[in-house]
Amino acid sequence: MLDADAEMIKEQDVLDKLSAVRDPDLGRDIVSLGYAKNIRVCAPIVTCDIELTNPASGAKERIKAEAIKALLELPEIDQANVNLTWQVSASPEGVQRTLPGGQVAPAPQKPAGVKNLLAVASGKGGVGKSTVAANLAVALHQTGASVGILDADVYGPSQGTMFGLHQRAEADENQRLIPIESHGVRIMSMGLLTTKETPVIWRGPMASRLIQQFLSGVLWGELDYLIIDLPPGTGDVQLTLTQSVPLTGAVIVTTPQDVAVTIAEKGLRMFQPVQVPVLGIIENMSYFVCSHCDEKTHIFSKGGGERISQELGIPFLGGIPIDPEVVRSGDEGEPIVVRQPDAPASVAYREITARVAAAVARANYESAAVDRPKEITESDGKLKIVWADDSESAFPFGVLRNHCPCAVCVDEWTGKRKSLILLLAADFRPMSVEPVGNYAIQITWSDGHNTGIYSFKGLKELERELEASKA
Ligand code: ADP
Repeated sequence: MLDADAEMIKEQDVLDKLSAVRDPDLGRDIVSLGYAKNIRVCAPIVTCDIELTNPASGAKERIKAEAIKALLELPEIDQANVNLTWQVSASPEGVQRTLPGGQVAPAPQKPAGVKNLLAVASGKGGVGKSTVAANLAVALHQTGASVGILDADVYGPSQGTMFGLHQRAEADENQRLIPIESHGVRIMSMGLLTTKETPVIWRGPMASRLIQQFLSGVLWGELDYLIIDLPPGTGDVQLTLTQSVPLTGAVIVTTPQDVAVTIAEKGLRMFQPVQVPVLGIIENMSYFVCSHCDEKTHIFSKGGGERISQELGIPFLGGIPIDPEVVRSGDEGEPIVVRQPDAPASVAYREITARVAAAVARANYESAAVDRPKEITESDGKLKIVWADDSESAFPFGVLRNHCPCAVCVDEWTGKRKSLILLLAADFRPMSVEPVGNYAIQITWSDGHNTGIYSFKGLKELERELEASKA
């Protein structure tokens, strides 16, 4: 009995120590995130698993090192074995919607076995969207995740070529299409169904039906991530997709030229009304790296992608250099992250992949089991929320601004607030409050700050914090 008690106390001690370690991608400590598993204490040795929700996390090794350091602070412990594992979190299914005429649209469902659906979009063609989709898929697979790619660019399918596939896809006895695997990624593309000699011209409604078939009529199997390479622009396929599956999020690819940036903005706006979280902007052909001296040259105007991400309050996921090897490897069916993993473009693709996977993990954590608001209004200098269970919260504008959770205001590793308490003008207020997916709102304040994404979970926590400080 005594022994059992001692064991239990020790497990709590271990959790207390581990709760000092944060996952910077999710902005929370690893104990409240539920990462700590299989704790075994047998002094002088403590062993535990840390199960991340994102295998591509750039913070993995640092989390492990910090956990070991924290555990070695326990009395009588001089060896800490921390085993890093991962289990990709799944995004929620869609919610039923009432259409303007009062008709009810059924809740969009993910294809069976698929945890997350990520759309790669662009405002116009030729910006490198398909190349980004291919390298993102392979880079995710390289971290151990199971990944598929759906080439929804039915007007100009290119994933077959990029993955070096020349065969045609087959169907099983139930007429379900079997994706073809290449470089560890399961692929389905119009290019795998037709031949060069018999191209098919797809018109709007046909293209939409085909997309639906690609989603529900393909044997995807168990996938952590299904990457969807969208056609450029904003057309029928995009609309069908956003209505028929609950997208985890979308990334927008642009190039640095002003015109491309403006068009990207249009593409971006397409996702807002349908509440698909835009996880960020990728700037392709951003700069040129000299192969002799490694110097970066910005051939076009610098920072276009970063500028629109700031203007629209959407994360900037990074830039990819222009590199002829990207073209060659794409044309020859071997994405550059496989062919030349150390090339600057490959390093950039992997960094972007880590950020995308972190954004997915964050969105999934925030949307798991949260109360959702029924109504959000502003009055008397407060943002008022009526929750689904009819309970109400009211947050003074200044308090919300001073609790902005964005990376500019909060240190990602320590969770400490970087900025001092701001003194705000008497007429300080939100200029807009926009939904982000089904888990958060993004507020643009009258002081111009707009990078804070306030998750519903976070708002509930803030309310509890404010009440505790009053008591
Ligand atoms: P999209 O899907 O936007 O139409 P693609 O991915 O097909 O664009 O790319 C268009 C062309 O640009 C292809 O020839 C591709 O190899 C090339 N390309 C893409 N990214 C880069 C890059 N970073 N550097 C050089 N060429 C690139």
